[in-house]
Amino acid sequence: MFDNLSEKLDKALHVLKGHGQITEINVAETLKEVRRALLDADVNFKIAKEFTNKVKEKALGQDVLTSLQPGQLMVKLVKDELTELMGGDAEGIDLSGTPSVILMSGLQGSGKTTFSGKLANYLLAKKNKKPLLVACDVYRPAAIDQLHVVGEQIGVEVFSDRGNNDPVAISKAGIAHAKANGFNVVIIDTAGRLAVDEQMMNEIANIHKAIQPQETLFVVDSMTGQDAVNTAKAFNDVLNFDGVILTKLDGDTRGGAAISIKSVVNKPIKFIGTGEKMDAIDVFYPSRMAERILGMGDVVSLVERAQEQFDEEEARKIQKKIAKNKFGFDDFLSQIQQIKKMGSLKDLMGMIPGAGKALKGLDIDDDAFKHIEAIIHSMTPDERSTPAKLNASRKKRIAKGSGTSIQEINQLLKQFDQMSKMMKMMQGGGGKKMMQMMGA
Ligand code: GDP
Repeated sequence: MFDNLSEKLDKALHVLKGHGQITEINVAETLKEVRRALLDADVNFKIAKEFTNKVKEKALGQDVLTSLQPGQLMVKLVKDELTELMGGDAEGIDLSGTPSVILMSGLQGSGKTTFSGKLANYLLAKKNKKPLLVACDVYRPAAIDQLHVVGEQIGVEVFSDRGNNDPVAISKAGIAHAKANGFNVVIIDTAGRLAVDEQMMNEIANIHKAIQPQETLFVVDSMTGQDAVNTAKAFNDVLNFDGVILTKLDGDTRGGAAISIKSVVNKPIKFIGTGEKMDAIDVFYPSRMAERILGMGDVVSLVERAQEQFDEEEARKIQKKIAKNKFGFDDFLSQIQQIKKMGSLKDLMGMIPGAGKALKGLDIDDDAFKHIEAIIHSMTPDERSTPAKLNASRKKRIAKGSGTSIQEINQLLKQFDQMSKMMKMMQGGGGKKMMQMMGA
């Protein structure tokens, strides 16, 4: 996410490293590079200029803070300004209605249908809501099918009326259906066009007027940069929407839309889409995003994800096994599965401070565990629970069965051994011992 921008800002902010104090000259030099980085990221010229002017003003008024290194101070100022630009505090969505009606708007292909599913899934799993999805794209039967597929996948009912070509009537009928059947959130997926056109705008404006939703969300593909900002403006003029959903951030290396959209339409970014799967949705936190862009990591989100996926029952089982010296490869496999549930590895790495830069160029893909899993799957249950049994001939058989090599198996055994040792130490009141081992 935003790799190019991160790299360029990092370079720009390096200019100040090694300087003892902030002077007008080195600030100007740094900010020229920051501005260039923003322009390369497809941030609007005016916004980039305002941004650097604000940072400059603050930087030159900061000579009081002599204890801070200029480099660090500049990073902080840029971070604060980026946070401000992207919206300050995070904003939630209004779920107070009975039912709460959420209207989706945006161009075709922006990710509306996918996001409708993600939002329904999120509200169901995390907010204890009973959502209903309503299909209002009367032009493309495939769009209705797509929403049904999504609904089935996440276990959420989808309301549609294939013979009907009046989206206002369908959305009203959907809301009535929700009221009659105890749904407390209604998410209305509407038709989009490839570009802004009058008929589409009229149609969404009519739906909006007729159903008076609690939330009108504008969905936009982050990768389209300045076009995303212009489209947002066009939709906002007609709908005065409540929030922006930025999709496909996983493929966006530049970040221009994320940075400029709020200041152009003065509406917050509420959620982001970070993948095609139904759980690739995150609440948008401007300060966390600014930290990620500047390579400061996002430990808060990382811990939150770990907490969400943490399976207490499983952890207790594993603890017992470690205590009895029975931790085996099946448990190792289940640990890997838990990590995988937290999201794509690349995404997780990006949340570790400094890791983005350190791991740059390394191709971390989600197949990283594939070999390990293949090796474990090629073991017999007996070998999994008692790895000591793995002699040379067994290793040869496993290497063949998993399409790996003896070296890879030995490496895995070594890792497994280290992990078991560490776990035992943590178990046996050996926290202290471990800290010593780690040099603390
Ligand atoms: P709609 O026409 O606005 O309803 O757009 P769709 O929901 O059909 O999405 C268009 C394409 O973008 C589909 O192939 C989706 O899988 C893909 N997509 C949607 N959101 C994301 C995202 O956050 N990341 C990625 N990588 N792809 C996405």
